[in-house]
Amino acid sequence: MTQHLFSRARARTRWCLVSVCLLFSGLAQAAGLASGDGLERLPDDTRPLHYLISAQPNKDNTGFTAKASLRFEVLKPTAQVVVNSRDLKIGKAQLKNGAVAKVSGDPARHRTLFSFDKPLPLGQYELNVEYTGLITENIEGVFRVDQQSPDGKRQQMLFTHLCCIGTARKFAPIWDQPDLKAVFELELIIPAGLDAVANTPVAKRETLPTGESKLRFEPSPRMSSYLLFFAVGKFDKVETQLGATKLGVYTQPGKGEQGRFALQATADSVKLYNDYFGIDYPLPKLDSIAFPGAGGFGAMENWGAIFYFEPYLLVNPQLATQRDRQQVYVVVAHEVAHQWFGNLVTMKWWDDLWLNEGFATWMASKATDRYKPEWNVWRMDAESREQAMSQDARDFTHPIVRPVRTYEEAELSFDSITYEKGNQVIRMIEAYVGEDAFRTAIRAHVKKHAYGNAVTEDLWKELEMASPFPVAAIARDFTVQEGVPLIDVISSKCVGGKTTVAVRQGRFGLDAKSKQPKEWRVPVTATVVGTNKIARQVVRGAAPSEISLEGCGPVKVNLGEAGYYRTRYDAASFAQLEKNFARLPAQDQLGLLNDGYNLAEGGFTEFPGYLNLALKVPANADPVLWLHLTRALGTLDKLYRGRAEHEQLRAFARWKLSGALRELGWVERDGESANASIARAEVVELLASLRDSATQKEALRRFQGATTDPALISGGMHQAIVNAVGMAADAKTLDDVLARAAKSTDSAQSQIYLMAAARVQDPVLATRMLDLTLTDAVPAPLVGNMVREIAQSHPALTFDYVTSKYETLAPRLESFTRTSVAQQVAGNSVDVTLLPRLEKFVAEKVGDAGRETLNRARSTMTFSDEVRRERLPEVDGWLREHASAWKVQQ
Ligand SMILES: [Zn+2]
Repeated sequence: MTQHLFSRARARTRWCLVSVCLLFSGLAQAAGLASGDGLERLPDDTRPLHYLISAQPNKDNTGFTAKASLRFEVLKPTAQVVVNSRDLKIGKAQLKNGAVAKVSGDPARHRTLFSFDKPLPLGQYELNVEYTGLITENIEGVFRVDQQSPDGKRQQMLFTHLCCIGTARKFAPIWDQPDLKAVFELELIIPAGLDAVANTPVAKRETLPTGESKLRFEPSPRMSSYLLFFAVGKFDKVETQLGATKLGVYTQPGKGEQGRFALQATADSVKLYNDYFGIDYPLPKLDSIAFPGAGGFGAMENWGAIFYFEPYLLVNPQLATQRDRQQVYVVVAHEVAHQWFGNLVTMKWWDDLWLNEGFATWMASKATDRYKPEWNVWRMDAESREQAMSQDARDFTHPIVRPVRTYEEAELSFDSITYEKGNQVIRMIEAYVGEDAFRTAIRAHVKKHAYGNAVTEDLWKELEMASPFPVAAIARDFTVQEGVPLIDVISSKCVGGKTTVAVRQGRFGLDAKSKQPKEWRVPVTATVVGTNKIARQVVRGAAPSEISLEGCGPVKVNLGEAGYYRTRYDAASFAQLEKNFARLPAQDQLGLLNDGYNLAEGGFTEFPGYLNLALKVPANADPVLWLHLTRALGTLDKLYRGRAEHEQLRAFARWKLSGALRELGWVERDGESANASIARAEVVELLASLRDSATQKEALRRFQGATTDPALISGGMHQAIVNAVGMAADAKTLDDVLARAAKSTDSAQSQIYLMAAARVQDPVLATRMLDLTLTDAVPAPLVGNMVREIAQSHPALTFDYVTSKYETLAPRLESFTRTSVAQQVAGNSVDVTLLPRLEKFVAEKVGDAGRETLNRARSTMTFSDEVRRERLPEVDGWLREHASAWKVQQ
C-alpha cells in the first residue's frame, strides 16, 4: 500500500516535530485490528486452491449476503477445517460430497471451524458456505460512501479494503495469510443501473428477472487474499491500451478527465516495469479506482484494480499543487510496482513486509526519475529519508526485517523503516553493485518466485550471484539490525596532490538505547569538491581507516546522499565545507544541512555550525534547500513553544523565509520548476504559521479577491493560501472557509477547506473545529486526519478534548487510529507533564493495543523535552549574536 505510508510520508503535515511525524507514519493501513493480540498462522493441514464468492449487498447497504464455494486441499488428514473469519454470520456449510459441517466460531482469534464426523483423507474438497457480513462506513472490509454527484444527486458507492491484516476475513471465510495463495472468482448481484469493477474483467453480465445485474468476473491469477477487491457504483472512466493491457481510471461521475494524468503515469510505469522485471504485466487489464474522499493512507495495490483515495489519483487543474501532481505520479508508480513486487511475488509473512514496500518505494522513485527528471525525485526523497533516519535513531525503531508477532506490530510495520529505510538501503545497494547487476538479480528473483512467496534471504542469494562484490553481508548488516551508522571524518590531509581522509564508523542515536555501539559494513563514497573523482570504500568499526582521494580541497563524504548513514566532520574539514558551501551540488548542500540539523539536535555537534550553514542558503537556492529550511525552522518553532526566546527565533525564521518569498513571489511563473512552486507554497504556509502579518494579510487579500479575480491565486498556490487563511482565521473568516467546504460538491475541494480550517490558531475556534469532527460535517474517513491536524497547533487542548469525548469520537475512527489517537495527539506536545495523564488514559481506555504507540509518544515527548533543555540554549546564543542581521533589515 502506499503509502499508505509511502504517500503518507510525503503527504504528511509539514513541519510537525520530526518524531511526531513518525507517530503518524506508524499509522498503517487503518485496516487492521485494534488489538495487541497474537497474530497466529492457521494450521498447516489444509490450503486453499480456489474461491468462488457470490455476494449481494442489502438494499440499504448495511450488510451483504453471500455464498462461497471453497476448494481446498487436505495436506494432513483432519476432521476440522480452520479458516479466518471476522464479523461474519456463517449459516449452512456442506462439502460437495454431501457431508455437512458443524460450524463453530472462535471470534477472538478470527476463526471459523468446520468440523466433520470423520477426518478428511488427503485430497481436494469443495465446501459450500452460506453467510452474511457487514458493510460499514469505516475503511475496513466492505464499506459504503455517500457521494454527491455534480448534478446534486446523492448516491452510495461500495468499496472493499481487504488489506492487510485481518481484513479480507470480513468479506469471506478465508485462508487469510499472504502465503496461502489461491484463485479467486467473484460474482456480484447489484442494483440496476450500477456498475462494478474488480481485479479481473467481467466475464459475463446478466440482467436478472428482478432487474438487478449479475456480474461474473474472470478468475484471478493465484494470489494472496489481501489483494482481492471490488467496487460498486456509478463511474466515469478514462482508458487507454498499452500493448496487451487495458489501462483504466474509474472515478465518480463528472471527474473522469481528472484521471488522465494518473492514466499516463500508469502507462509510463507499466512500460518501464515490463522491461525492468523482464516479465510482462500478467493480467489483461489494470484499473485504478478513485474513492471520493481521503483516509489514513494513500492507495492499495489490489491486483488489477488499484484503490486510491482521490487526492492520490486525480488531478484537478484548478486545485492541484505541483506537490499533488508529484504525489499522484509517485504513488501510481509505487502501486504499479507492487503488481510485480508484492502481488506476483509476495512476502511470505509480515516479517518481510519491506520486500513489498521498500521495493515499491524505490522502484517508484526510479520510474519517476526516468520520466520526470526535472523533479529531482531523489532530492525530494530526502524528506522521507530524514523521517526514516529519525525513527531509526530512536529506541522504538526496529530492523527492516523483524519478527511480527502481534497485530499491533504488524500494523506498525507499515512505517518509515519499512518504506523509506527500505528504499534507501536498496538505493545504496544498487549504487554499490551497479544498476545492471542489480537488475539481473531482481529479474532472477521475480522469475523464480512468480505467483509464490519469498523471504529476504532469497533476494540476497540472487544478488550475490549477480554481483562480483560480497554484497549480501552489507545488505544483512542494514536489514537485520536497526539503527543509523555514523561516519566520522577524523582528519583530512593533502600531500603531493592527494588527500588522505581518516574515517571511522560509529552510531548515530538519540537516546541511550540507540547510542549503544553497533557495527555495519558501510559502503562509503567521498570526493574532493570540484574534482569529479569518487573514491569508494567499505568502512566498518571504530578503528580508523583511510580513504585516498585525487586532488586537494574540501572533502565531501556520501555523494548525492546515496548512502544510508550520517556524516560528522572534524572542525577543520567542516570549516572548509562551510566556506565552499556555494560550490557544492544542491544534493550535497542538502545532505550537509540535514546531517547538520540532526547531529546538533542529538548533541553530536553544536547548533551554531548548522545555523551558520542555514544562514548561507541564498534566497534563490535550489528549492529543495527551502523545503529543508521550512521543515527545520518549523520544527524549531514547535520546540520553542512556551520559551521566553520564542519570539527571537521567530524573528530570524520570518526574516530568512521572507527573503525566499521575495525571490519566489506569490504567483507561479512561466517556465519555473515544479519544485519552485512547491517551495513557494511551503514558505507561505510556514510564514503564516509563524504569524507573519504581511503574509497573513496578503493570503487573505488573495483568498477574498479571487472570487472576482481568479488570477490572484495560481493553481499551485490554492491550498497554501487557503491554509494560510485558515491558520490566521477569526470567527468570521472561519465561517467563510467552512461555508465553502459545505457548499462544495467536490469532495477534494471540500476537504481542502476543512483541513485548512483545522489549522486555525485561535484556541476557541480550534475547539469549535473539534466539535465539528463529531458531526456529519466531517466525513468519517477524514476525522482522524482532522484531529491530528488540530493537534499540531493545540496539542494540550486536543488531548483534553479527545480524552474527555473519547466515547463519542472513537466510533468515528478506524480501528488503528482509535487505539492511537491520544498518543498521536499528545506526541505533538513539548510538555512532559502531559505524560502521566496519557499513560493513565491508555491504560484505562485502550489497553495493550496502544502499548507501542504509547512508547513512541513517551520517547518523542521525552526527547523533545531534552532538546529544549540541553540544545536550544545553543540556538539562543547564536540568535543573540546574529540578531543584528535581521533587526537591521526588517
Ligand atoms: Zn505499498
